[in-house]
Amino acid sequence: MPHILMSRLGVVTLLAASPAAAAAENPLLRPWSGPYGGVPPFDQVKVEHFQPALEAAMAEQLKEIDAIAADPAPPTFANTLAALERSGRTLDRATTAYGVYASTMSTPEFQAVEREMAPKLAAFQDKITQNEKLFARIAAVYEARERANLTPEQKRLAWLYHNNFVRAGAKLDVKAKARVAEINQRLAALYTQFSQNVLADETDYMLILDKPEDLAGLTESVRAAAAAAAESRGQAGKWAILNTRSSMEPFLTYSDRRDLREKVWRTYYGRGDNGDAKDNNAAITEILQLRAERAKLLGYPTHAHWRLENAMAKTPEKALQLLEAVWPAAVARVRQEVADMQAIADAEQKSRPQAGASMGSTAAKITLEPWDYRYYTEKVRKAKYDLNEDEIKPYLQLEKLREGMFWVAGELFGFAFKPVSGVPVVRPDVRVWEVTDKATGRHVGLWYFDPYARPGKRSGAWMNAYRTQEKFDGEVATIVSNNSNFVEGKPGEPILISWDDAETLFHEFGHALHGLSSNVSYPSLAGTAVARDYVEFPSQLLEHWLSTPEVLNRFALHHQTGTPMPQALVERIERAANFNQGFVTVEYLASALVDLKLHLAGSQKIDPDAFERETLAALGMPREIVMRHRTPHFTHVFAGDGYSAGYYSYLWSDTLTADAWEAFTEGQGAWDKEVAKRLREHVFTVGNTVDPADAYRAFRGRDAGIGALMRKRGFPEPPAAAAAPAPQTN
Ligand SMILES: [Zn+2]
Repeated sequence: MPHILMSRLGVVTLLAASPAAAAAENPLLRPWSGPYGGVPPFDQVKVEHFQPALEAAMAEQLKEIDAIAADPAPPTFANTLAALERSGRTLDRATTAYGVYASTMSTPEFQAVEREMAPKLAAFQDKITQNEKLFARIAAVYEARERANLTPEQKRLAWLYHNNFVRAGAKLDVKAKARVAEINQRLAALYTQFSQNVLADETDYMLILDKPEDLAGLTESVRAAAAAAAESRGQAGKWAILNTRSSMEPFLTYSDRRDLREKVWRTYYGRGDNGDAKDNNAAITEILQLRAERAKLLGYPTHAHWRLENAMAKTPEKALQLLEAVWPAAVARVRQEVADMQAIADAEQKSRPQAGASMGSTAAKITLEPWDYRYYTEKVRKAKYDLNEDEIKPYLQLEKLREGMFWVAGELFGFAFKPVSGVPVVRPDVRVWEVTDKATGRHVGLWYFDPYARPGKRSGAWMNAYRTQEKFDGEVATIVSNNSNFVEGKPGEPILISWDDAETLFHEFGHALHGLSSNVSYPSLAGTAVARDYVEFPSQLLEHWLSTPEVLNRFALHHQTGTPMPQALVERIERAANFNQGFVTVEYLASALVDLKLHLAGSQKIDPDAFERETLAALGMPREIVMRHRTPHFTHVFAGDGYSAGYYSYLWSDTLTADAWEAFTEGQGAWDKEVAKRLREHVFTVGNTVDPADAYRAFRGRDAGIGALMRKRGFPEPPAAAAAPAPQTN
């Protein structure tokens, strides 16, 4: 649903039944108090607060909406759109805490609340978008926008509201509206079930190892993490390989035990697909059918057409064109990678004495399977680039890299970071920094950092805005957070992370900077509230500063000696920059293509496993690779509408990222002040007040082609690179 309806701060004056009493008992209903314009009361929130708070806050916003809709004065921007921006503040605060619990504190009792509330929140959204009197006022303001002396930002907001309401079905007849609302409630329940099933499979399945020989090949840090994981699950003295990406990837990279690699691989890629109570296949079939039916009701050929209309790509065909332009080069690179790995595997077999084999004969070749890819990739990396993770990791201390990100933000954005205490957090290991403008001292916002894995926290890394920036009723500073799943070390011991994790850290910080830089009037247009296929551009761009010599020399310091990463190692990392891009690109593209094709398939009844298998076969998917997210656990796509038919967005954004980075390298380099200024002015500060294609053109002076993307990944440019599909809109 449009994020626009979910994000306002407000006053608790419209509650009918003893509002003061309810608010006094329930911290979620009170305005945020404390410093920095108020902060979320995470120290007071209990799970039992959520349901009553959400119910009361929804009722409050419906009253506000009714008052706007029933205004006897003719509709104006001020009495309709500005009033809408002002509404729903209590709900906004309550759903912020609700979202934090859903993603980081998801206990069984909270999950029960979620199952209860998800359909109710969906129904609430539809009550607003289907309010005819309200929509008539929005339409009137929108139609009069050129005559009404509005600012460009106000015109954009009028377009956004009108567009979001129409796309949600505001123009449908009563019967169709009722069906859309029914579908949305059912979908909300299915999305909740889908994500809870995946979380259960990630929590409940694990591989417990109890013999030292089961650990063959694993590095010290992988062994230590597995031992700690086992101990915290009541299995002290053993080793636990958890069913999460951060446990699976290092195990598949280092374990010499091919049988155990296969086991870990099958468990991980079988999430949601085990034919048990947590199996997601039936839910997927139903989600796809409901989405197809809803798209038809809303007047679109498919769900993909509905979703992409508002994105930079505009149509699924354009998104597919981009994915398919990159696919052949990526597959060709996989063939080379497999050949390199096969050569190493064959040489290993030759040198390994085989029981029963006659003298002089060589052992049977192994055929590379998906659970072998990461293992042999690591061996090729060593052979080709003399580079291994073990050599890099001692220089990548989590806290030093965080300081490095702050330093980058200081150089490029003029921000300063100062740790603050006394701000309530959900867990004692969450920390908070105040962000200010280095030059003026002006308060910019707060940055919360929740770095560690724990039960009930979803895997991966993400950014979240607890409060968005706005200034139409006075300055409101933003509050953003970065979340990740590092394994907490022993007290006082530095946490060492992989190069990939360091890039992810910078990526999520890029989203945070996008939020912190926001300088707009209206909250619905602020920060990261931009098109889905544009939002990954600022975050991906920030990843580039990790590998600059300035950052590595200052912040990639050896955890024991404190010396910076040696120049020779930096150079080897640089030389290996395009290494393994075949694997990375193909596992991603396969997921993006299946996502789009599932949502272009219309209302047929889809068997997800069969559809996945047949689609990949038709694409010519290399048998050595599996989709990065298989359909039964593709939470981007089935835990909500957000990235549905939208997983392509990462590549779309990356065409912009690669092209934007070349603006720096064509200029004075990574720290070019002029380019950084243009980037802030046209990309980071404007939120959704400008069409993203126009914003990009203002920054770069032209549209992006795919040439820079292909160069970044080390792929040959297609002959017609200049004319190839690129993120352009009219
Ligand atoms: Zn991102």
